[in-house]
Amino acid sequence: MFPAAFDYRSPASLDEALGLLSEQGDAAKVMAGGQSLIPLLKLRFAQPAMVVDIGRLSGMSGVSRNNGSLRIGALARHVDIERNKELGGAWAIFPETAHWIADPLVRNQGTIGGSICHADPSGDWGSVMLALSADLVARSSKGERVIHAADFFKGPFETALRPDEILTEVRVASGSKSAGGAYNKLERKVGDFATVAVAVQVELEGGKVSKAGIGLTAVGPMNIKAVAAEKALVGREPTDAVVAEAARLAAEAAEPKSDVRGSAEFKKDIVRVFVQRGLKTAIARAKGVSA
Ligand SMILES: Cc1cc2nc3c(=O)[nH]c(=O)nc-3n(C[C@H](O)[C@H](O)[C@H](O)COP(=O)(O)OP(=O)(O)OC[C@H]3O[C@@H](n4cnc5c(N)ncnc54)[C@H](O)[C@@H]3O)c2cc1C
Repeated sequence: MFPAAFDYRSPASLDEALGLLSEQGDAAKVMAGGQSLIPLLKLRFAQPAMVVDIGRLSGMSGVSRNNGSLRIGALARHVDIERNKELGGAWAIFPETAHWIADPLVRNQGTIGGSICHADPSGDWGSVMLALSADLVARSSKGERVIHAADFFKGPFETALRPDEILTEVRVASGSKSAGGAYNKLERKVGDFATVAVAVQVELEGGKVSKAGIGLTAVGPMNIKAVAAEKALVGREPTDAVVAEAARLAAEAAEPKSDVRGSAEFKKDIVRVFVQRGLKTAIARAKGVSA
């Protein structure tokens, strides 16, 4: 199917893009890599009067680390993250997740910001943002605001972004040198969206968990932050029993539906297994030993 007619703009700067959005309101749609938007246009699920293509804007795709914190430009493509050598150690969850996304064709075009803004409950980056308690930086012609990941996802394909805003950057703070994460994903075949996936990030201090984040993919109407499971870890030594209890609580937080990929019961059990497995890997990585 062909998309409905629209006016295509390729602004030369972020300010120009923001100006177009403030004029057009919700009649305009931002396009980054086009990997989700173009199928929506072709199916006519989206029929914007204008598409504002920000994919070629410069200065919005970098990755930088400063005093333990991390910034990733919204236009960083999945492949840029997968191959970035800066993103090892405490940030190993980034290349690990990127590698699980789709296939090389999609990873070459799709962006981290586009994926977060698309807010597909089966999208992989949303859970990583929740596990990392990331700050998502939005700009409009009125200025900048920071939205915590936990406040960003509002429902299936729905976010806290206003129509005149562009997500420019992801920021993650880390208070500890001993941090590690992991992303585990079950898919029916290579390149598929998740049947179930789990993002886990921990920080350790004095042998105890000082910070824990767990995000769940494809087991509810949006990516889910497993808050009770996170709380069960913080301040505790991560023994097998503590990890097993966190995994049980995370499975309880999942709200999967039975479908061709598996029963709800099966998916909940995969959450439990992946939280346990992810925590073991994340803790080993935080300690600097191979898992
Ligand atoms: C065959 C196939 C398989 C896939 N498999 C997976 C998978 O396994 N896991 C997974 O997570 N994803 C998967 N995806 C989706 C892929 O990750 C997309 O790249 C991603 O969802 C959208 O990124 P994009 O840059 O292409 O965004 P676009 O398609 O350009 O935009 C998506 C949405 O976000 C908005 N948007 C984009 N950027 C911004 C911004 N900076 N600020 C404000 N709004 C913005 C757009 O208006 C649009 O509504 C798959 C896609 C395809 C086609």
